[in-house]
Amino acid sequence: MKGLRAASIRCPYCGETLRVEIDCSVAEQSYIEDCQVCCRPIEFAVNVNEQGQPRVRVSREDD
Ligand SMILES: [Zn+2]
Repeated sequence: MKGLRAASIRCPYCGETLRVEIDCSVAEQSYIEDCQVCCRPIEFAVNVNEQGQPRVRVSREDD
């Protein structure tokens, strides 16, 4: 259950739904990735549970 998984998130700036790849080999991570639509920096906070399912939270960088 390790490796990259696709997830859908909603951009906190423009509201578009984006497909992102989550690296599930890391149980807990946070990083910033630019929105593919509006190019603003989205903050990702990812937790991977014991089943290898990622839980992704996104927020604005300026929150
Ligand atoms: Zn956006």
